[in-house]
Amino acid sequence: MHIDILSAVPRLLDSWFSESILQRAQQKGLAEVKIHDLRNWSTDKHRRLDDYPFGGGAGMVMTIEPIHRAITELKGQRVVDEVIYMSPDGILLEQGLANTLSIKNNMIILCGHYKGVDERVRTHLITREISIGNYVLSGGELAAAVLSDAVIRLLPGVLGDETSALSDSFQDGLVAPPDYTRPAEYQGWKVPDVLLSGHQAKIDEWRHDQALERTKERRPGLLG
Ligand code: SAH
Repeated sequence: MHIDILSAVPRLLDSWFSESILQRAQQKGLAEVKIHDLRNWSTDKHRRLDDYPFGGGAGMVMTIEPIHRAITELKGQRVVDEVIYMSPDGILLEQGLANTLSIKNNMIILCGHYKGVDERVRTHLITREISIGNYVLSGGELAAAVLSDAVIRLLPGVLGDETSALSDSFQDGLVAPPDYTRPAEYQGWKVPDVLLSGHQAKIDEWRHDQALERTKERRPGLLG
């Protein structure tokens, strides 16, 4: 999978992709993430990316031209399956959407800044708009990192234990059961006996029951 991220503040994203699981995914050649500075496509002599909103009002709006030039150039390099704009009013990111995107080959993710982008970017250049929640961030970079992380960790071979993404919350319509590790007792707080029993069928049943209980309690909507 190849992801191009377009940003006005690319440095915000560097460290995210150069550590841990996302770094390993790239080293193994399973994912390639390129973070681009949108200013490289600005024709303005001060490399500006924004301008005043027509009709007045507070805040600056990202102009269409550098974004259009960037997307056009990147589309010339490979077949792009999705051009995604991170936006608070986009479709909410959930596991199912991460699953859907994880089978795509190439994606461009556009991060907005300031007030957001000229509406014509959204109408003419974008295939999807995705939100990471009903709150407003100051830029799309964190949202793009969240989306990329949720998608990349699903690619086969990225997680050490092949089954672990499947046992995560939401994959089977339930949240995950509790996990414990050593020591079996800490300051009198004990690990449930069944997990130490060695009886795999009983352990599986216990985990399923726990997952069901937790889902009822915390995300009853998943059961509907
Ligand atoms: N004026 C816009 C908010 C702009 S916030 C509005 O009221 O909807 C600036 C940028 O941050 C946006 O262009 C978007 O790319 C990003 N952003 C902010 N909140 C986000 C969220 N919840 N999900 C995804 N992207 C978000």
